[in-house]
Amino acid sequence: MSAATTPTVRGRLTLRGEPGYEEARVGRVFNARKPDRYPAAVLEVADAEDVVAGVHLAIERGWSLSVRSGGHSWAAWSVRDEALLLDLGALRSLSYDEGTGIVSAGPATMGALELAPFLAERGRAFPGGHCATVGIGGYLLQGGQGWNGRAKGWACESVVAVDVVTAEGEHVRADAEQNADLYWAARGAGPGFPGIVTRFHLQTYPEPEVMWHDTWTFRLDDAEAVIHWLHDVLPRLDRRVEPVMAATRLPEVPLYDGVEHPGGTVLLLHATCMADSAEEARDLLAGLGECPVAGSELGHVTGPTTMAQESVAQMDQNPDGYRYAVDCAWTNAPAETLAPLLLDIWRELDTEHSFSIWYGWAPTRELPDMAFSVEGNVYVATYLIYPDAEDDARYRARVHDRTAAIARDGGVGVYLGDTDFTARQDRFLSPEHYARLEEIRARRDPAGRIAGYLCKDREGLNIHA
Ligand SMILES: Cc1cc2nc3c(=O)[nH]c(=O)nc-3n(C[C@H](O)[C@H](O)[C@H](O)COP(=O)(O)OP(=O)(O)OC[C@H]3O[C@@H](n4cnc5c(N)ncnc54)[C@H](O)[C@@H]3O)c2cc1C
Repeated sequence: MSAATTPTVRGRLTLRGEPGYEEARVGRVFNARKPDRYPAAVLEVADAEDVVAGVHLAIERGWSLSVRSGGHSWAAWSVRDEALLLDLGALRSLSYDEGTGIVSAGPATMGALELAPFLAERGRAFPGGHCATVGIGGYLLQGGQGWNGRAKGWACESVVAVDVVTAEGEHVRADAEQNADLYWAARGAGPGFPGIVTRFHLQTYPEPEVMWHDTWTFRLDDAEAVIHWLHDVLPRLDRRVEPVMAATRLPEVPLYDGVEHPGGTVLLLHATCMADSAEEARDLLAGLGECPVAGSELGHVTGPTTMAQESVAQMDQNPDGYRYAVDCAWTNAPAETLAPLLLDIWRELDTEHSFSIWYGWAPTRELPDMAFSVEGNVYVATYLIYPDAEDDARYRARVHDRTAAIARDGGVGVYLGDTDFTARQDRFLSPEHYARLEEIRARRDPAGRIAGYLCKDREGLNIHA
């Protein structure tokens, strides 16, 4: 069957075995480590009505349903055996309402590459993902850890409504007043959301006057001292400051004149903030206080930056065309526990692009009532990035084993965005919210048509080891 004989579908429908199937299956998957999973068919939708038609087609054929917006899920959640894969790549139109400051965006819109410039032209901003090409669909459904996130909260907190095609093929609006269960789930359920979002309605904010950065390069040998210092200042740090330390092997790091890169892995502390003036930004960053190894750093630069510049740096660190093995953990462990575990990972980084981050999050408030419900003092995420398939098993085992060690000693769970539950599972929702979500899923999708969480052990899902 093809689109020509399926009048209800305007987009391109490609069945398994037909020409173009392989490209439709994995061509838009960011991770070059493509999965061995084979959907029955892929529907590259033309518009939101096609999503409705796709759901009815799946019901008719007895297929399950999987969804792709930006294709950036590390584990390629969109690629599921025997499913109809709804590829929403065409749904990326944007409209803005000046009266409310609400932007409406298709789910395949890229946060930093498309949404941010569209809003900047209107003097507005939204906490989009750090990496420019991430689709807002998967990003917002799982929470959304974006620029200025410590101040603005999880990006999903700024979702005011979603347009959803249900598992029965009905197109509905979900917000605080109507279909409130779907609205609750859309903010944190990630791939467990029991519907297909065709449009997000997002509260935007005035664009900050300045974005500033304070960037230090340290030797790996100074990691213990630097981690202790960061844990010490983190609770007092203004929430407009985002402190991220990356163990990285990229050569392009700040170095003082005459200082040579020592080779191998160095530590890049990159603190950013958004503020009303340069003076305020400098004051906020001064909150980092005195670095205990100041004087032995390899380089230090501070000054204005822009989202566009930051996006370029993110793309350099996360190149496409490579294989990725990724894992993460939220941890409340003190510095003396965490530092040696981090060093176990950081000392082993051995490819040009691989990196691992310590991200000071330090939550200080109760989250609003939404599915998203697990966060901790520090976010640790490791990205092993390599070109060859023969290294898959080795790097996957390494990233998940090392992260499991962090999870065991002070870990409180994971952020869905950097997980691969086919390898390591952990808690991503509070037990209460997980139970509530399961109840919503059973009611909204009783046939279990939407593929949901991709995992190795369904019974062990959301359990903290
Ligand atoms: C290079 C890179 C950088 C990243 N940086 C960040 C970051 O800074 N912050 C952060 O929070 N995350 C980040 N991530 C993680 C990323 O946000 C998640 O992988 C997210 O799921 C990607 O969304 P997507 O739409 O591009 O992915 P997809 O693979 O298209 O979607 C993932 C899954 O989400 C569900 N889904 C997506 N869209 C819909 C929809 N419209 N309706 C229903 N279900 C849907 C489906 O289950 C789908 O399979 C990064 C990922 C990469 C590859």
